[in-house]
Amino acid sequence: MSMLSDFLSQYGEYHNDLYFKDLTTIRMGGHIAHFIYPNTIDDVQHIVRYLRSEHIDFKVIGNGSNLVCGESEYEGVVICLKKIDGYEINGEQVYAEAGVKAPLLANVLAKNGLSGFEFAGSIPGDVGGLLYMNAGAYKSDMSAVVDEVLVLKKDELVWMKKDELEYAYRSSIFQRHPHWVVLACRMSLVKKDSDEIFDLMNDRLERRKASQPLDKASCGSCFRNPEADFAWKYIDEMGYRGYKLNGIEVSEKHSNFIVNNGGGTAADFLKVVYEIQEKAKEKYGIKLIMEVEKFNC
Ligand SMILES: Cc1cc2nc3c(=O)[nH]c(=O)nc-3n(C[C@H](O)[C@H](O)[C@H](O)COP(=O)(O)OP(=O)(O)OC[C@H]3O[C@@H](n4cnc5c(N)ncnc54)[C@H](O)[C@@H]3O)c2cc1C
Repeated sequence: MSMLSDFLSQYGEYHNDLYFKDLTTIRMGGHIAHFIYPNTIDDVQHIVRYLRSEHIDFKVIGNGSNLVCGESEYEGVVICLKKIDGYEINGEQVYAEAGVKAPLLANVLAKNGLSGFEFAGSIPGDVGGLLYMNAGAYKSDMSAVVDEVLVLKKDELVWMKKDELEYAYRSSIFQRHPHWVVLACRMSLVKKDSDEIFDLMNDRLERRKASQPLDKASCGSCFRNPEADFAWKYIDEMGYRGYKLNGIEVSEKHSNFIVNNGGGTAADFLKVVYEIQEKAKEKYGIKLIMEVEKFNC
């Protein structure tokens, strides 16, 4: 064992045999030299302090549902917060840690007759990833429910208020500070009949199953919707629905989903993305911005 692996092993479950393709919903990406599931928030602090002092690169991930990773080895440390998954409900106030799965939390809140988080019921990410992305759906997003977020900035743990988070459509201050670690949040919800909440979430899930390729490996919507119209409409009009490149396919079912049918790589995924972006600029004068994040490629 190296010194780094010895050090990391003190603070959680350590692995040196994992690949991004095992940890991302689009099932792509190369070997990860060092991977750790820290046990506690304290552990995250120890790890990050050490990595910073040693100038070792690191990447924090949640459920890997918005990440397209390259094939080459990542030589830094991937920190996955899945084990930091506590939550607490106090009346209409909710505390949730970064590793809580969004659909699980949405179900717990529905059971407790708390409304506001229904939109996240079918988003396959973890709370940390949702806070980072300002994930959303059905005209709502994280900024609608969050009051404050616990962040590890350099060496200090800070509760940041919502108005400091620069939340906008699929955008947050965290995207501009990739080495801050999002650890937890406090949210405010409102009381509502539990059955009504479940009905709404189930209805939406059924509609998703009918319109999205949920049986395929993907990152969900590839592009943000431009102001004027849905991204999928432009992609359709340009004739890309069903377009294939090696293992990559612009989904037949939903043309803003770019799926991996097996053996697809980030290089091919990005080739398709760049081609669509170029054509959209040429034909409509619009910039299709990727919602999905690329990493190590
Ligand atoms: C089938 C499908 C449907 C989807 N539907 C939607 C939808 O309706 N709406 C929507 O907004 N998104 C949707 N997504 C995309 C995705 O689920 C969201 O972007 C989600 O917020 C990503 O969370 P994650 O935990 O998987 O993050 P990851 O993919 O693990 O990470 C995404 C980014 O966030 C950063 N990050 C993650 N956790 C932390 C943390 N704790 N601290 C600091 N940085 C962190 C990572 O470094 C990375 O840059 C969908 C994806 C799929 C596969």
